[in-house]
Amino acid sequence: MTFKELNLSSEILRALDETGYTSPTPIQAQAIPVVLENKDVLGCAQTGTGKTAAFVIPMLEQIKKSKSRDNKRKVRGLIVTPTRELAIQIGENFREYGKYTNMNCTVIFGGVKQGKQTASLKNGVDVIVATPGRLLDLMQQGYISLREIEHFVLDEADRMLDMGFIHDVKKLLKHLPQKRQSLFFSATMSPEIIKLSNQILDRPVEIAVTPKSSTAEIINQSIYFVDKGNKSKLLLHLLENPELTSVLVFTRTKHGADKVVRILNKNKVNAAAIHGNKSQNARQKALGQFKDGKIRVLVATDIAARGIDIDELAYVINYELPNVAESYVHRIGRTGRAGAEGTAIAFCDATEKPYLKDIEKLIKQKIKVIDGHPFPLVDVDAKIPPKQPRQPRRNKGKGGGNSNRPKGNKRYSRG
Ligand code: AMP
Repeated sequence: MTFKELNLSSEILRALDETGYTSPTPIQAQAIPVVLENKDVLGCAQTGTGKTAAFVIPMLEQIKKSKSRDNKRKVRGLIVTPTRELAIQIGENFREYGKYTNMNCTVIFGGVKQGKQTASLKNGVDVIVATPGRLLDLMQQGYISLREIEHFVLDEADRMLDMGFIHDVKKLLKHLPQKRQSLFFSATMSPEIIKLSNQILDRPVEIAVTPKSSTAEIINQSIYFVDKGNKSKLLLHLLENPELTSVLVFTRTKHGADKVVRILNKNKVNAAAIHGNKSQNARQKALGQFKDGKIRVLVATDIAARGIDIDELAYVINYELPNVAESYVHRIGRTGRAGAEGTAIAFCDATEKPYLKDIEKLIKQKIKVIDGHPFPLVDVDAKIPPKQPRQPRRNKGKGGGNSNRPKGNKRYSRG
């Protein structure tokens, strides 16, 4: 199939041609015609499938049409996404695909001063790409009205819930007009997600691509059993291999990410961390340096890494296994994109074995175990301590926040 067959306008086809995309990805081929018919969509797709273009391209087409009818500049499209990085990337894609149209968009996110954002809103925009908190904030200050929204996209809904944005999303919904088109994307479809989608969508067409396991199948995965205390040594050992030129390392916590960076830097490996405690500028800088090859290892928490768009990332190392199996699929999905070869390595200490079991169940395969490495698991009986009645915690001084012990039902530390 070609983009031409999707009945796109010449301006958009020209821009797509310049991006070098030759044909639509499966989610694009399925979603674009349905969205152009103005139907609601429930899309199950991960980052890396081309889902951004699947909603940005038809939104451009539709808004172009409705704008030509009344010739007014007003906010007709709203895309809400959980992280700043994702918002910035969607904005970039919008400008890229829409560069031969007269449509503009602005990107709204927190963590920076609002002046530039409000200035661009005052000039008039067709589409807003936003994270929920700053969007609500600017609405309350009267800079944004959603009364004329014709097309609404909720992107990465599962992350939105994980990051605790559910109340913000519900508040937002109250400000949207009843008559609108809504698209809802999520990588996973838990009952909670379905419930939220029911509150937003009207008789949606369901589109699913990449069953959860398929990313996992094209990536070369392996696991090293190693004691928690030896993980940094194992990481340094693996980095002795010069083939690992660009490596994305995942930790569960922000503190853990900083600690890994400290150890790597001490051992003369260029590394930086991206997580929620870093300023937007620091994150962008680290990401830029990583992309340019100035930083060899980027250490990230799950949430910070969402939506990072890095081409040809060959290695992902799970320094700590995620306590939610789907996160493993997201993490390793950062490599092996578009059929490129990818390698995903995981470290697993004895307390993480239950997580490994969950992951293997989800991806429906056993991950290859690497034996014979220099730091084999010794403390095989280390167990996740059973839940005990709460007792006052003795302050041990340093490192209190870096416990690797799974924290009850808390699914994520806010990366
Ligand atoms: P996404 O899933 O939206 O994060 O997109 C993943 C990557 O695929 C991005 O780098 C896009 O630029 C790229 N991409 C999107 N659509 C296509 C396409 N039809 N052909 C090739 N690459 C694409």
